[in-house]
Amino acid sequence: MRLSTALYCILLCSLWLAAGARADAVVVSPAQPTTELTASLLLFEDINAALPVDLPDPTVVAEKLQPWRKNAANFGFSDAAYWVSFTLSNPTDTDIPLVIRQDYPLIDHLDFWWPGANGQWQHVRTGDHEPFGSRPLALRDFVFPVILPANSSHTYYLRYASGGSVNIGLSFSSQEAYLPRLGVEQLLYGIYYGGFLVLVIYNLFLFLALRDPAYAYYMGYSISYGLYFAVINGFAFQFAWPNFPWFGNQILLIVLGLSLIFATQFARLICNAKTLAPGVDRFCGVLMRCMIPLTLLSPLLDYSIMTAVFSAIAMIVVLSSLAVGAVGAWRGSVSARYFMIAWITLMCTVVIYIFKTFGLLPHNSFTHSAFQVGALIEMVLLSLALGARVNEIQKRSYIDDLSGLHNRRFFDEHLQREFRLSERNGTPLSLLVLDLDHFKAINDRYGHRQGDLTIRGIGQLIMHEVRKPVVACRYGGEEFAVLLPRTDQDAAQRVAEHLLRRVAELDLGNLSVTVSIGVASYKDGNYGAGIQLFEAADAALYRAKQTGRNKVVVESVQQLDMAPV
Ligand code: GH3
Ligand code: MG
Ligand code: MG
Repeated sequence: MRLSTALYCILLCSLWLAAGARADAVVVSPAQPTTELTASLLLFEDINAALPVDLPDPTVVAEKLQPWRKNAANFGFSDAAYWVSFTLSNPTDTDIPLVIRQDYPLIDHLDFWWPGANGQWQHVRTGDHEPFGSRPLALRDFVFPVILPANSSHTYYLRYASGGSVNIGLSFSSQEAYLPRLGVEQLLYGIYYGGFLVLVIYNLFLFLALRDPAYAYYMGYSISYGLYFAVINGFAFQFAWPNFPWFGNQILLIVLGLSLIFATQFARLICNAKTLAPGVDRFCGVLMRCMIPLTLLSPLLDYSIMTAVFSAIAMIVVLSSLAVGAVGAWRGSVSARYFMIAWITLMCTVVIYIFKTFGLLPHNSFTHSAFQVGALIEMVLLSLALGARVNEIQKRSYIDDLSGLHNRRFFDEHLQREFRLSERNGTPLSLLVLDLDHFKAINDRYGHRQGDLTIRGIGQLIMHEVRKPVVACRYGGEEFAVLLPRTDQDAAQRVAEHLLRRVAELDLGNLSVTVSIGVASYKDGNYGAGIQLFEAADAALYRAKQTGRNKVVVESVQQLDMAPV
């Protein structure tokens, strides 16, 4: 009794195992939407690719195939060939035209067997090591059209062999459902690459206008990065070099290397790494010297080794870019902040993609395209970083390095602007012109360095004493100008006297300094232009100097009426 029970159990187990080795047929409907096949596959890893490829009848591998039952079938670099099969069943009374699709187009060799109408096995050999014309349909990925006859089941076989990683991404759908979806997909890819193109053209015009090398690196980065995705998606092979599969395979490492080179150079420039993070900048310089020869030599070196090398370099580039961006952002660079947001966005989408690849996240259109969409978003954010950089450069060109105040150029432009505003709105506008007293003597006695420190000290003092909309500038040498919009003569005089006191009180170590201030105010059209207002304030300053220094002199409107400028 016991023996018979045991035998019965063994029989059941072996039946179960035998049944497990058979594919569960996937039932198909006429309007079958896209359906993943990975979990329904039988798979056999032919280590060292020992089995012959040109099998007239693929069923000889059938007994070696085992159910895969996982949501992802991605294999790294290996010499193995991967055989897969799956069974589709059509329970309806009509033949169903189907497409079977392998959506990772970088498989070197892909063989597909299907039962023909005459019961004979049909075989097609394609892959990205074969000319593009070897594909049954001229599409970027591998799409095999088949017809599943009414009330029948068919088993299909594929063989994958590749120098790169083998990502088995099989799905099927009815042709009726596939064609509209293909149209939408092509449209979305068109928008995607169009986005890259717009960014490149837009920044090309900016480069021509501004001649800033950061724009050239940006363009190099976006072109090589866009091309990298065009190669990965199969569009480059389809449209650019359909008859040159060798080139199509080598170019991947070249564009990857180029995008890393341009990304590194761009990061150094946009984050002002030379000044803000000199250590990381020097490291990036060494990295550049390694990447350039490696990129140029990559077609001549082993593909799998070079892919590993570039993956490692990509990690280093990412980490050093994040380091450069973090230091730049920490030290107040606005463009470095945009840069950081751009890289963090890209990193998040890369993590989503990696999780999807290893089956930790479901394979859906979001997880599948997150990385590529992330790359385009990164490019848009980097373009904003470029804009912020131009802003920063422009702002810096209006700042006086020694005092930290606005410079003469800014003053000249701002005076005109404020004068026009006052004229139009009928509001008063006052101007103080300050000149340090006997400054030459300070230089002579304490040296130019101490003179510089004094100018800086006075500049900082004025900066702290004024608030927007008042604008303080270093006009030149030891002269300063303070422009006070919507401020009448009395208020301007009070400000001038306050500044006079604060300068005299300023603690500059073993020396003290005083200032003379000329004040002029615009009111009711008493001056015809900003320059006249300046000349009036300068004339008042001259009188302050002549009448003893360390004082405020106001150029009154009445005086000016008597002696027009
Ligand atoms: P006062 O205005 O009271 O008539 O006498 P002053 O000695 O200040 O007059 P002057 O305009 O003749 O001299 C200005 C000096 O300021 C001359 C120059 O050596 C010095 N100076 C101008 N720019 C700088 C600067 O950037 N740094 C230093 N250290 N000195 C400067
Ligand atoms: Mg002077
Ligand atoms: Mg002076």
